[in-house]
Amino acid sequence: MNKDGQYAILTVDDAKDSLMLLDFDLSESGYQVLTAESGEQALLLLEDINVDLILLDMHMPGMSGLSLLELLKSTAAYKDIPVIMLSASGQEEAIVSALEMGADDYVTKPYIPRVLLARIRNSLRFMEKTKQLELLAKTDSLTGLNNRGSFNDLTSAALSQAKRSNQPVSIAMFDLDHFKRINDNYGHEAGDLALVEFAKIMKDCFRDYDVIGRVGGEEFAVCMPETDIDEAFLACERCRTTLEKHSIKIDHQGSVKEFTLTVSIGISAQNEQVMNFEQLLRRADNALYNAKQSGRNQSILDEDIKGSTNNMTIDASELMSSVTSDVNADDSNAYPGINYSIGVKNVLGDDALFEEILVMFYQDHGQDKQHIANAINDKDYASLKSLVHTLKGVACSIGAMNLFEYCKALDVAINTQNDAQYAELFSPVEKELETVIEGIVKNLSEKL
Ligand code: GH3
Ligand code: MG
Ligand code: MG
Repeated sequence: MNKDGQYAILTVDDAKDSLMLLDFDLSESGYQVLTAESGEQALLLLEDINVDLILLDMHMPGMSGLSLLELLKSTAAYKDIPVIMLSASGQEEAIVSALEMGADDYVTKPYIPRVLLARIRNSLRFMEKTKQLELLAKTDSLTGLNNRGSFNDLTSAALSQAKRSNQPVSIAMFDLDHFKRINDNYGHEAGDLALVEFAKIMKDCFRDYDVIGRVGGEEFAVCMPETDIDEAFLACERCRTTLEKHSIKIDHQGSVKEFTLTVSIGISAQNEQVMNFEQLLRRADNALYNAKQSGRNQSILDEDIKGSTNNMTIDASELMSSVTSDVNADDSNAYPGINYSIGVKNVLGDDALFEEILVMFYQDHGQDKQHIANAINDKDYASLKSLVHTLKGVACSIGAMNLFEYCKALDVAINTQNDAQYAELFSPVEKELETVIEGIVKNLSEKL
């Protein structure tokens, strides 16, 4: 269909008077009409213009109608365009051949306009139905994303294309964290809504030509053509952080509830050793497993793909200025460094329980500043890793979002053994932890 909502019909006939008649009758009925006086001319036109249906004269000098039909039906780009053959009476053998070759229908000349128009309408209707069915067979009905089969097909094609053109291509696997709890706490419908909202976030975060699929219940995947593993990492992180900040609102037992969700991501990329779809998916899946094992809500790269991310350095001052300064924007400043509403939401709105958790945070992590500093000094990397990793997870759950971001940067440096950066990245962690602890002491001194 063209931009004016008209179907475009290509008429191919060597007889000019026939073409003029067809042009008149079809235009009268609201179709856009294109004409070609030979098979060769028709092929040239098809290269430039999208055509919805072809009316093809059987008998033409040069390329015959049957030869053109055969060519169209064996060309991927044209094979789904319906073709109605125009034949003189007494060409039964040729008509049978045409139908066997994949023509949709035939009309004998001289044609009766009403009959021809009815047959055109039928063919177009059939084409639309077929298209819809094909789309349904490829689409996940809940989210509208590619289903697993379609994701596999499109990704395999993208990988072959990347190999031919020597371009990078990356794949990421996503698995929503603790998704079962959403169903358990709020019901299956809320779970479904969360899946739909996550699918929307994915569509917004990735480019139109990235292939996005729902490949399992709460598992998603993206294939990113012309993207190396470092660029893929950044795109996935953008998606992950958008999700963790996105609150999902549901009507639960008569009142509106809000919750947030996180996702773990594993990323791999095609290289000389890892070429085929199954290998790449398995590698991304292994990285995803590592992301789950290391505490969830993070993107982890396939260890064997050497990307410059492994050497990526993070500028501490840039990091501090990029972190949200309005962490308390929606609250009074009762707990500096803590977004109270995020924290309390994580315990389903129970203020008393949240206070208890803050007391525990003080008891368990009040001395972390000293412990981390000691681990850096002593080059005790095992303790350092475990301390920072735990602090990062707990900071996120109490809504200390700046502390979480600073810990995350230090965590990346530790995971990539970028030891030159430890001291520099520890400094914002230290200051922010002090702020958070001071706020807890000020508010909850009698409970400590
Ligand atoms: P993990 O962080 O380890 O991935 O934990 P998880 O709870 O997300 O993982 P698990 O595999 O234990 O559970 C996945 C859950 O996803 C269980 C299943 O009920 C839910 N799920 C799968 N498909 C759908 C769906 O279409 N709709 C809803 N509402 N839930 C679904
Ligand atoms: Mg899962
Ligand atoms: Mg899961």
